[in-house]
Amino acid sequence: MIPTRRCVVCFAKKAKSDLIRIVRTASPAQPDKPERKNFCVDITQKQAGRGAYICNSQDCLQKARKKRAFERSFKQNISNDIYAALETRIFQAETMTTMTTKTTMLPTKTERLQNEP
Ligand SMILES: [Zn+2]
Repeated sequence: MIPTRRCVVCFAKKAKSDLIRIVRTASPAQPDKPERKNFCVDITQKQAGRGAYICNSQDCLQKARKKRAFERSFKQNISNDIYAALETRIFQAETMTTMTTKTTMLPTKTERLQNEP
């Protein structure tokens, strides 16, 4: 069984891999950008926190923007940054025919520790 989730925009049930997850995390992901609050696009779909899903399509994203679907789902204001991040994700997915595991890797805690004398 493939785990399915419902898109907050069109309410279609889809495989998790066909959806993009937005998550409200417990701690601020970007302290330098407080306007982002604790929301982020969860590429791994494994981040802890309250999540909402949207189809990997421009169509649903546009509707989400119009209907403020995520705001309704989280009952909270969502920064336009999140919609912008989603747009980037969806645009990338639609341009790339083959899914590559292209992730922007930030140095992990261990890597930083190793670099210390
Ligand atoms: Zn949808």
